[in-house]
Amino acid sequence: MIIEIPKLDPDGEQLTGTEPVEILALAPTDPVQVKGPIDYDFFAQVVDKELLVMGSLTVKVAAACGRCAEKFSTKVTISDFLRAFESSAEKDEIDLTDDIREEVLLHLPRYPVCEPDCQGLCPQCGHNLNDGACGCEVSRSDLRWSGLDDLKLK
Ligand SMILES: [Zn+2]
Ligand SMILES: [Zn+2]
Repeated sequence: MIIEIPKLDPDGEQLTGTEPVEILALAPTDPVQVKGPIDYDFFAQVVDKELLVMGSLTVKVAAACGRCAEKFSTKVTISDFLRAFESSAEKDEIDLTDDIREEVLLHLPRYPVCEPDCQGLCPQCGHNLNDGACGCEVSRSDLRWSGLDDLKLK
């Protein structure tokens, strides 16, 4: 995404649109995938020879749950995007692509879980405990991490 400073309204301007998911350069093997384009909703204004860009980014994320390994999708909204760029006569175009990529990658879930209270898999029989108990005798604290252990082995 490129902002052409001379074309910008001196009172600031709302800039909305999408960036292709390809700018993130995620590997197909990454556990967290972004589906569809990146939505941006920015407000841009030149203040004291600085271009200020603030606003939000929204992406749809598909991931495998770290506990139960089920695939799920969710939406990630980054509402505190803020950048300042020096604006000068020589530099009247600002490319925000790298900043958008950086911000989205930073906010992708590192330990995705399908639900905050996901019960995970039974470490003994592999049963998805969200579907109900399996009858094995294991303590709760072991259950929470069973899905994670599974993922590490792959
Ligand atoms: Zn889960
Ligand atoms: Zn079990």
